[in-house]
Amino acid sequence: MSKRYDDFDRLVVLTRVTGNLINKTPLRIGVGREAPLGSAVDLAPLKIRFADGRTSPYIPGSSLKGVLRSLAESIASAQGYPTHSPWDFERVEEEEKNHNYCVICGIFGSTKLASHVRVYDAYPEGYASTFVKTGVGINRDFRGVQYGILYTEEQVIPGVRWSFKMDVVNIHVFPEPLDERGRLLRQVIDMLVKGAVQVGARRTVGYGLVELKNGKYEVYEVKEGALVRTSEGDIA
Ligand SMILES: [Zn+2]
Repeated sequence: MSKRYDDFDRLVVLTRVTGNLINKTPLRIGVGREAPLGSAVDLAPLKIRFADGRTSPYIPGSSLKGVLRSLAESIASAQGYPTHSPWDFERVEEEEKNHNYCVICGIFGSTKLASHVRVYDAYPEGYASTFVKTGVGINRDFRGVQYGILYTEEQVIPGVRWSFKMDVVNIHVFPEPLDERGRLLRQVIDMLVKGAVQVGARRTVGYGLVELKNGKYEVYEVKEGALVRTSEGDIA
């Protein structure tokens, strides 16, 4: 059966998931290897400047979406669904040509198909305190410690509460999933609730472990030309 996931010509159902993400371990959403000019540390977190001049670390929606996509990919591939890297352009073009998109592109999109999921930037409630950690540079050529090379890294302390908001278009996820994409999204959200998802850098040492708290969903459906809320509930 051909899977027509290019169904953006009309809105059938919109699901909004909201809640808080709590980082249980230190978090670093880096700006890359190069710290911004004027930064006192070598590795600084990505920050946003608010209207009042205050700056704060935040988690870009694109980072969160990338994490959820790769999580969905590993669940789907363990369940026997064909998956591929988002950069496998040959597969992506083949899917478009045949109008037969894989379940992952059918959720998160590809260069040829719009995404059914939008994840918003996550901002901290109040102020996200950071601490600076000094590390020892590792010499990658010799796989050992390179003495004398120290670097500093700014990280967000554990326990910060971040806003979480995600919209899903034309996939029934709640109250019951109606297709494989809905079921996959439910499994991904379930992993968030269990606190088994990592975002940011240093994942190999356990950093960036986040947990979804106070999760809620709202479902809107088009009835007689108007968007009406058809269900809502807690995610536990
Ligand atoms: Zn695909």
